[in-house]
Order: sequence, then structure tokens, then C-alpha cells
Amino acid sequence: MDGLGKGIVYLVGAGPGDAKLITLKGLECIQRSDVIVYDRLASPRLLKYMKAGAEKVYVGKLPDRHTMKQEDINQLLVDLALEGKVVTRLKGGDPTVFGRVGEEAELLRTYDIEYEIVPGITSAIAVPAYAGIPVTHRDLASSFSVITGHESPDKLDKSIYWDKVTNATGTLVFLMGVAKIDYISEQLINHGRPPETPVALVRWGTRPEQETLVGTLATIAEQVRTTNFQSPAVIIVGDVVLQREKLKWVERLPLFGRRVLVTRARSQASDLVQQIEDLGGEPLEFPVIETRRTTKPDQLAVVREVMHQLESYDWAIFTSVNGVECFFEHLRENRMDIRRMTRARVVAVGPKTAEALEQHGIMPESLPEQYRAEGILDAIQSELKAGQRVLLPRGDLARAWLPDQLQQLGLDATDLKVYETVQVHDDEEEQQLIERLEAHEIHVITFTSSSTVTNFIEALHRQGVKQPWTLLDGIDIACIGPLTAETAIKNGLTVSVVSQEATIESLVDSLRSLAATPIH
Ligand code: SAH
Repeated sequence: MDGLGKGIVYLVGAGPGDAKLITLKGLECIQRSDVIVYDRLASPRLLKYMKAGAEKVYVGKLPDRHTMKQEDINQLLVDLALEGKVVTRLKGGDPTVFGRVGEEAELLRTYDIEYEIVPGITSAIAVPAYAGIPVTHRDLASSFSVITGHESPDKLDKSIYWDKVTNATGTLVFLMGVAKIDYISEQLINHGRPPETPVALVRWGTRPEQETLVGTLATIAEQVRTTNFQSPAVIIVGDVVLQREKLKWVERLPLFGRRVLVTRARSQASDLVQQIEDLGGEPLEFPVIETRRTTKPDQLAVVREVMHQLESYDWAIFTSVNGVECFFEHLRENRMDIRRMTRARVVAVGPKTAEALEQHGIMPESLPEQYRAEGILDAIQSELKAGQRVLLPRGDLARAWLPDQLQQLGLDATDLKVYETVQVHDDEEEQQLIERLEAHEIHVITFTSSSTVTNFIEALHRQGVKQPWTLLDGIDIACIGPLTAETAIKNGLTVSVVSQEATIESLVDSLRSLAATPIH
């Protein structure tokens, strides 16, 4: 869209909090927008899908100011669209359920700006579902209502006809009602719901903070007071609430309630992120390193030279997926054909590396049992012969142990640096992370290499944290393998779990073992 034309505004439902509960269409809107306007009910995790260079505007509550006024948000959307921008307005849940989407759309129409309304999964249904409460049930409730609890009591009286609403449907769902729980339960009892009717409040549903309080119309207001139960929460009234005893499920997932920081390079993190999600945790990506194909001219020259001697190698040992991918990129870059590596026996350390090689049409040989450099040597030592040439396509931070050992055995090892590890940092993200650490919103930190530890500590120092271990007190630290753990300990951290092997699977097993311990 050029600067002269008008943009378009997508009014998108982000779902109730779990980032994956957005629609495919909503996700596409985020991916193609120049600006994302969002507030606190929409998952911040969705922002990672923004295209490069896109801008984000937060219009939610901040400690130092109240929520931006609705009129101002409406106007902001208009202004951005008039600049020719493609805009996504992300709203928690569904935009048409107490989302004031009507007002936003109306003003856009006045200015003749194009818009689309992209529905989302409303918290009114999803939050009960995550608490194991279906809003309808064949035997218990054949209808449900969604009601706002948020208006001033005098207005509430005018807009909600309690005499009708109370018994109109089997289940009643109230949004924005925590502060009015006394009034709501009183009205329902006064209008004929039995005081023993089951009630549940579910706070921050579908997020790690999800918490559920169950009582009856007669008891719930007092329970909210004594437990100091806070908004945002969904209130569910009706017999379906008791289904929770049988159907609750998220609480049973091993990482339920845990937000797990992933410090690994974004390009390598997807496996770990996925597995944390599968176990019911919420991964939070905070990459402190990024890996990329070698760029340094002197190293590129070495790569080129090796590419022209591929036929001279007797062995090629790949120790990481990254090593495989970058090796093949260099190959292409140098217009070289892999068939030139005619003699080499190819070995992969670990199943993921083997899989990556297979993707390129190479079936590697034996896999070592212990997924570290030591393991590979045990596995192939008997077949190594002095004088043989070994190619080791690796990263610039790989340990010297393996090439050293090979040299000692009389082999000629080429430690080829096909990729390099660079530190990445973003001031804004670092500040946000520290705020979340201070607010105890992060429960586990994973380190997948020594460089993730040192760069993470450096990031904290950069933001003025003098004693990282104090800020991280009470957070479980999970390290991949003993070397990473050693670096963490050297940096003053208390390590909770160390995976036995240096693989993501093994690290995930360690995370699973945390499930047995209480969240701090
Ligand atoms: N459009 C939203 C509702 C906006 S009103 C939707 O469709 O979900 C805001 C209210 O929604 C909150 O006060 C709370 O009652 C409810 N809500 C939204 N997300 C929630 C969540 N993750 N957990 C509990 N309640 C939530």
C-alpha cells in the first residue's frame, strides 16, 4: 500500500491468552500488518509473528497510566490507516464480545476506511473449557448466556433484566464481574436461583497463571474476599461447574502453571518451544544468541578451500543440525556438488543431526550412544586409521576436544567453522524481561549452551542488574548437560536440574522432573 492510499484495519480476536488459540486468519493479519495495536488481554507472544520492521503500539493498562481512552484508540486506528498502513487491532477473546469493536468499526466507516472483523475464541467459552467446565451439557444445561458484570450497579440494573436473565438459560457466564460478585450472586438468589447453585471463577484462564475458585451462590462472594481473588476472571454459574471434578485437564499437564524462558537462538528453538507447550507450559522466547552461516572473510576462504577438496576426506562428522544446514548452504554458495565427497564415511552425533543429513539425501552411519563428542569417538575409534582425513563442519564455539583427540590418534582433522554464534540484544525486550522477572512471571529458565548463560547474564548486567542471582532467586534453572551447568554455577546461579545428555529431549525430561516440585 503506498503512502497516498488508505490502509486497512483488521479487527482481530486474539483468543483468550494461550497464543495458539488465535485463528489462522487472525495470524495472517498479524503477519501482513505494518502496525499491531494491542492491549493486555491479547497474548504478547503473538507479536513474534509480526513481519520484520512492523511497529507495535500498546494501548492497555500501564502502571503509570490508565488504559488509553476508547475514543483515542478509535482515532489512532483511523490515523494509522490514513497514513496508508495495514493495521491489526488485536483484541482479547472475540472482538464482538464486550470488545467495543462496533465503535472502532463505526469510526473507520465514517472515514471510509476498509476494515475486516476477524472473530476470535471468546474467553466466555475457552476459559471455562480450560478449567474443565463445558458451558453446555446434554443433561445439565442446554443453553448459556454471556453477561457483562462490569457496569456501575445503577446501569447494571437498567441493562440486565435479572428477573429474566436469572433463569433464562442453564449456564450463566459473567465477564468483568469479579468486583461485583456480591451483587451478582445476590441478584441471582433473589431472582430464584437456589443458593447452593455451583459457581466457579477462573482467573487468567489459558495462561500459566490460571487459577480456579469453586463455591456456591451463597458462599462465593465471601470466598473471593478471603482468597483475595483478582480479575480478570470469568464467572460460571450453573450445574456444569461440577463437571470440573471429572474433566479438569490443564492442571494435570506436567508443566502446567510454568512459564519457561528459552534463551536459545530463535532459529534453533522451535523443538524446545514445541515440547514445552506439549507439556502444558508457556514458552517465552528470549534469544540471547543467534547463529548464522560464517561471514568472516578469512573463515570463508578456508571454507572455500575445503569445498574444493571434498574428495580428499575419509570421514565427515556432523555434530549439530546447524552444522549440517550451514555446511550445505556453503556448498551451494560455492556452487559445489555433494557428490564430490566421494569417499567420506558420514557420521552424525544425535538423532536430530542424522535426520537433517537424511533431509539432504545422506544416510549417516552409526550413532553414538552418548550424545557428546566423547560418545562419537567411542563409537568409531576402532575404525579410525592414522593418516585419515576427517572433516568436522561445526560452529565457531565448538570445543577443541574432538579435533584434538583425532589429531592425537594421528588423524588429520579439519575443524571447519561453517557457522558462527553472535550475541543478540534488544533493549526493549531486555527491559520487558526484567519487569517480568521482578513480577515473578517466569518460573523456569533453560540454558542450552554455555554461551546462552554468559550472554544472558551479560544482558542482565547491561540493564543494570548487579546481582543476577538475586533477581533469579526462586526461579528453576535447567541446563543442558554438565558443561552448561558448570558455566551457570560459575556465574553464581543455583542450578535446579541438569539433563543427562546434551539433547533437547533429555533437557525436556529434566523439565518434566520439575513438575514434581512446587512452583516458587
Ligand atoms: N472480548 C473478550 C472479553 C473482553 S471483556 C472475550 O471475548 O473474551 C474482558 C473480560 O474478559 C475480563 O474482565 C474477563 O472477565 C474476561 N477475560 C478475558 N480473558 C480472560 C482470561 N484469560 N481469563 C479470565 N477472564 C478473561
